[in-house]
Amino acid sequence: MFPNVKLAIGPAIQDGFYYDFDLDRPFTEEDLKQIEGTCRQIIKEHQPFSGKKVTRKEATELFTKRGEPYKLEILKGLPDDDIWLYSNGSFMDLCRGNHMEHTGEVKAFKLLSVAGAYWRGSEQNPMLQRIYGTAFFSEGELNDYLQRLEEAKKRDHRKLGRELDLFSFQEESPAIPFFHPKGMIVYNQLLAYWRAEHEREGYQEISTPMILRKELWEQSGHYGHYKDHMYFTQMDETQFALKPMNCPGSTLVYRSAQRSYRHLPLRLAELGLVHRHELSGVLHGLFRAKAFTIDDTHIFCYGEQIKSEISNVIRLILRIYSRFGFHDVSIYLSTCPQDSMGSNEIWEKATEGLVGALKDNEIEYELNEGGGAFYGPKIDFEVRDSIGRDWQCGTIQLDFMMPERFKLEYVGPDGKMHRPVMVHRAVFGSVERFYGILVEHYGGAFPLWLAPVQVRVVTISEKQAEGGTAVYRRLSEAGIRSELDLRPEKINYKIRQAEMEKVPYVVVVGAQEVGSNTVSVRARRRRDLGSMSLNDLIEKVRNEINSKEAEVSN
Ligand code: ZN
Repeated sequence: MFPNVKLAIGPAIQDGFYYDFDLDRPFTEEDLKQIEGTCRQIIKEHQPFSGKKVTRKEATELFTKRGEPYKLEILKGLPDDDIWLYSNGSFMDLCRGNHMEHTGEVKAFKLLSVAGAYWRGSEQNPMLQRIYGTAFFSEGELNDYLQRLEEAKKRDHRKLGRELDLFSFQEESPAIPFFHPKGMIVYNQLLAYWRAEHEREGYQEISTPMILRKELWEQSGHYGHYKDHMYFTQMDETQFALKPMNCPGSTLVYRSAQRSYRHLPLRLAELGLVHRHELSGVLHGLFRAKAFTIDDTHIFCYGEQIKSEISNVIRLILRIYSRFGFHDVSIYLSTCPQDSMGSNEIWEKATEGLVGALKDNEIEYELNEGGGAFYGPKIDFEVRDSIGRDWQCGTIQLDFMMPERFKLEYVGPDGKMHRPVMVHRAVFGSVERFYGILVEHYGGAFPLWLAPVQVRVVTISEKQAEGGTAVYRRLSEAGIRSELDLRPEKINYKIRQAEMEKVPYVVVVGAQEVGSNTVSVRARRRRDLGSMSLNDLIEKVRNEINSKEAEVSN
């Protein structure tokens, strides 16, 4: 259909697939329809898929002849003994397989959209066109998915963030959010709740510098493995880096005093802002930004303490999730990979600790055998949101390497020096990403305790300016985040606007209310609660704020 097109890369992704093309003109909606039509024809023909292993020379010759520069580049990165070509009909592609037997097995599919994408995700490379699509076993499943996609579009946190005036992105600092006053209220409520929960569990909060000497990152190993994603800066003669992680800073706090087994476990919590240089192709609003806050904690403990510490962390994570209405949580345990550091004994103790903690809490989990990092096993937590999407958020990761690299020690009961185990753990993961997930999960209608504006007072006419102001003052004095709308607009217009801004309660003050010392109350989603005394309203609202009830509507 497009003789001049160059093929780039086309993998399967979580909910479908994409393919990147280099074409001298943009694809149109009409093109997508026509491509879909051709696909349907190919499906009807039941074209068999066949694959064969080829030598590098054969593959290079083929793609040189066909004039496919991107394929030639991909080829360079493949190992000699693993080069496969798959074909159906007249189409042939570099692919490792496997495939279905023939195209007729495709039951329900749809091409969804076209977007720009840089080759290999880097701005320095040519901009390609990415066609997204998806496929399911039945039309029914496909339609369910498309509906979910529609719903997700309406809830897109970047769109709601703008409409509700929560945050913005500006060219002056690409891919790093600016939080606005209303957005900051939600952010601070989130952190206040987080802090209260952690204090209860014996965590101690610290804060470490954002800029640390380059040598520290060499010692931690980040410079060796991660420097392409780090920001550097120089002051006087010294090279510094912006921290991409909080862990090394935390080990310095640990090392600042002599520790004994009596001090352990030491739970150092840090809401640490990190900077990571990411390729523009992966950036996505608050979900993937170049700077974000990790709700980190580093727990320093010894082997016998692992199980009870992990058990506490698991309970804390699940409790916090349920507060937001995330009751469906998937848990994955990743164990010792083939290349690992640390003794067998410590790995065994650690893995036993993790498994024991999961069992003690009667938690079902999926085992990812050998999927742990080389420096320790881990547990990952995935929450399902109100429209059925899964998000990996929390993690508990054991680490035998960093205590070694930073020579961390504690005095044991035997009077000798020992190495502690370090546990990295996060509940939200990235606070900003979790924030974005919440915006979409709630569709912007935050539960009362998080809502930037909890009550809006609206007056029916200018005659109630005084009465309305008095109601607004009383609410504010009672610690309820309130706004006052005295504008000379129609009452229905004012109510509709509050509804659009997802304000949980609208309090209407008219002549009748002023006369009877009451207010007429409407809750979000058109629920008319009728009239009540101001005291009753204040009590009701305060109770609901304190309950931190997670109201989630689909
Ligand atoms: Zn860490």
